[in-house]
Amino acid sequence: SYLLKLLWLKRDSGQYWPSIYHTMASPCSAMAYHHDSRRIFVGQDNGAIMEFHISEDFNKMNFVKTYPAHQNRVSAITFCLASEWLISTGHDKCISWMCTRSGSMLGRHYFTSWASCLQYDHETQHAFVGDYSGQITLLKLEQNTCSVITTLKGHEGSITSLWWDPVQRLLFSGASDHSIIMWDIGGRKGRTLLLQGHHDKVQAICYIQLTRQLVSCSADGGIAVWNMDISREEAPQWLESDSCQKCEQPFFWNIKQMWDTKTIGLRQHHCRKCGQAVCGKCSTKRSSYPIMGFEFQVRVCDSCFESIKDEDRTSLATFHEGKHNISHMSMDISRGLMVTCGSDRIVKIWDMTPVVGCSLATGFSSR
Ligand SMILES: [Zn+2]
Ligand SMILES: [Zn+2]
Repeated sequence: SYLLKLLWLKRDSGQYWPSIYHTMASPCSAMAYHHDSRRIFVGQDNGAIMEFHISEDFNKMNFVKTYPAHQNRVSAITFCLASEWLISTGHDKCISWMCTRSGSMLGRHYFTSWASCLQYDHETQHAFVGDYSGQITLLKLEQNTCSVITTLKGHEGSITSLWWDPVQRLLFSGASDHSIIMWDIGGRKGRTLLLQGHHDKVQAICYIQLTRQLVSCSADGGIAVWNMDISREEAPQWLESDSCQKCEQPFFWNIKQMWDTKTIGLRQHHCRKCGQAVCGKCSTKRSSYPIMGFEFQVRVCDSCFESIKDEDRTSLATFHEGKHNISHMSMDISRGLMVTCGSDRIVKIWDMTPVVGCSLATGFSSR
C-alpha cells in the first residue's frame, strides 16, 4: 500500500509536518483541490479517483467516494462545482467526465495516445487535452456527449503541461520538445507564439494574468519567467525549397539541378528569423532573438544576422535555478508563492514576490 501525505501544516517551529495520512491501494498520480468546498480529488495509478472532504480546521479528512474514472493511470483532474462534474484524463487514452452527485460516468472520449494534461473552461464547457503524440484537442463537453472542435498541432514532443487563461483566452502548452507555445484563441487569427528558453522537457507552466507573466519549469530544474506584456512576433513557418534560397545551390535531393550544374547537393537548414531554406554556408551565424521567443542562440541566415541589433538581443524572460528535477509546480498567485515538487522527493516553496531574482523561502523533504 501507499501512503498519501496530505496537508502539510507549518508548525510553530517553522517546520512542515503532514497533518493527514491516508493509505492508498496504488500510487497517487494526479490531484485537484477545490478551495471553497474543501473537496480534494486524488487520482491513482490504477485509474481510480478518490474524493475526500477536509475539515474546517484542516486536521481531518473524510473519505467521500471512489470514482472508476479510468482503466490506467490518472494524469489530470479538474472539478467543476457548478455542474458537479469531475473531469479527468488518463493513460487509457481518454478523457472522462463523471457526476459527483451520483458518482456515475457521464461521457468519455478516446484519443489515439495517452492523454497527459487537461485544462477546462468552466463557462463554455470546453476542455483542452494534451497528449503524448504532441497534439492538443479542443473538445466541447455536453451532458452525455462531446464534440471535437479542433486539434492544435505545433509541438514535436509529448504535451506535458497546459494552462488556459479564460480572461485573455490564451492557451499555453509546454512539451517534451523543450518549447512552449502560446495559442491565441481569443484573437481568432490563429496567432501562435513560440517560447524557447529551456534546455530540457518543460514540465509545468502557470500564467499570471495580473502581471502578464508566464512561469515555466523544466526537468533540469530551470525556472523561467516570461514577460508576456509586450508585443512579441510570431516565428515564421519554415519554407520549403529544392535549393538554397540565398545562394541557389541545390539541396541533396535535387538530383536534376545537381546533374545540370555538376554540383554536390547540400543539407537544408532553416533560418529561425525569416524561415527561409538555406544551406550551411549561408547560415553560419547564431543569435538569440527574444522577440520571437528565441532566448538562446539559434541558426539565422547571414542577412538576418546583420539585421539583428544588440538591443534586439535583450532577454524578455528571467531564468532561475530550481536545483531539482521539477516534475510539478503550482502557484498561489495571491500570496506570490510557488511550490515545486521534484523527482528527488523534495518539495520547495518559493517566494516569487520579487519575481526577478526569486528567492528560496523554505524547503522540506517528503520523507
Ligand atoms: Zn546557400
Ligand atoms: Zn533569415
